[in-house]
Parts: sequence; structure tokens; C-alpha cells
Amino acid sequence: MADTLFAKIASGEIPADILYEDEDLVAFRDISPQAPTHILVIPRKPIPTLNDAGPEDAELLGKLLLAAAKVAEQAGIAEVGYRTVINCNAAAGQTVFHLHLHVLGGRPMQWPPG
Ligand code: 5GP
Repeated sequence: MADTLFAKIASGEIPADILYEDEDLVAFRDISPQAPTHILVIPRKPIPTLNDAGPEDAELLGKLLLAAAKVAEQAGIAEVGYRTVINCNAAAGQTVFHLHLHVLGGRPMQWPPG
């Protein structure tokens, strides 16, 4: 399978504003922010969608959520509040088929989302 855009960001082949990385995950600023703070957290493992994650990914998915909370804290949006989003497949708005968690904050959020 060809590397996705996000796999290339994780490997450093494509530049991004990286805020956090470790052996499993990378967090970087979204190129087209939908809120004053808009960060993407991805696993280095190229899982296309949430549907493709299996029991073997349980620890990785937990780390993804904990990293989201960590970057929200570092970005200064943890206390006031923020939203995490995973778009799964095109009908939900997924455009990059490498699992990623959106972390959005810095403005009031509406519910339900569009
Ligand atoms: P999705 O729509 O798949 O849930 O989210 C993909 C996100 O990736 C979008 O919010 C889009 O703005 C972001 N994005 C697309 N291309 C790039 C890029 O080259 N660099 C960065 N940092 N973000 C990107």
C-alpha cells in the first residue's frame, strides 16, 4: 500500500508543525484549521479508518486519546474545553485514510456537529 499523506508527515518526508511525537504517535497542526486550535493526532501505524483497528490496536488507541489530552493541555485549551473527532469514512467527512484524531478548541462548539 502506498504511503498516505499522514504516513509521510510521520516519517518527516512531508513537513508539518509537529507538537508532539513518540515511538507510536505524532501530533501536528492541521493545515486548514477549523478552530483557533486544531491539532491532529495520528498513530505511526497506517490504520486507514477506525473500522480497520482491531483488538491488537487497543493499547495504541488508548495512547491516541491520552496524547490528545496531553496536546490539549499543552495548547492551553484543556480547562475551558475542547472537542475530539474521528471521521470514519467519506460520508462522515474523512478525506485522509490514515486514522487521525482531531483536537479542536479555542472557540465555542455547537452540537450537534454538521
Ligand atoms: P479528515 O477530513 O480526513 O477527518 O481530516 C483530514 C485533515 O487533514 C483535514 O482537517 C485537513 O485540513 C488536514 N490536512 C490535509 N492535508 C494536510 C497537510 O498536508 N498537512 C496538514 N498538517 N494537515 C492536512
